[in-house]
Amino acid sequence: DKYCKKDIKGILQHVVALTKSQAILHDVHIQTSFSKDSLEVLCDENKLKQVFINFIKNAIEAMSYTDGGMILVKSEKVGDQSVIIRIIDQGPGIPEDILKKIGEPFFTTKENGTGLGVMVSFEIVKQHDGEVQINSDSNGTTISITLPLSSSLS
Ligand code: ADP
Ligand code: MG
Repeated sequence: DKYCKKDIKGILQHVVALTKSQAILHDVHIQTSFSKDSLEVLCDENKLKQVFINFIKNAIEAMSYTDGGMILVKSEKVGDQSVIIRIIDQGPGIPEDILKKIGEPFFTTKENGTGLGVMVSFEIVKQHDGEVQINSDSNGTTISITLPLSSSLS
């Protein structure tokens, strides 16, 4: 597929719009906080959107155990080489034994889960020379996706 320079803010705004109705259904509010600079990444836009949709959907689903709450989607510049996108939820968090298995094909704890979302997302981020980090405790989960800025590539 085609790799183009895209502003990460536009991509995130689109995926937040796409996931809004599911969020509302679960009494979840999605808040955003974007870096002021325009941060461009060389990406396959649709694949990257798939990644953010997967993680935002997981965040919403995690919070359906609680009484709603807030998800924060933010972007920030790191040094002058990369952007970090964080999806922060207030769900129950991920127990240690489950955390180890996340990203394995078909691993799911959900009745109707496919267990493919995280695996596919890891793959796509890797194709973009990026990294995914998962931090979780009983207050919630933070997914951090680091991507190189297109200006850092030569
Ligand atoms: P699925 O959503 O179909 O279960 P995923 O690959 O997207 O598949 O996620 C795998 C598993 O990782 C989920 O079933 C869930 O147990 C766990 N998980 C992923 N994201 C979160 C999150 N934000 N909070 C709690 N658990 C999560
Ligand atoms: Mg999922």
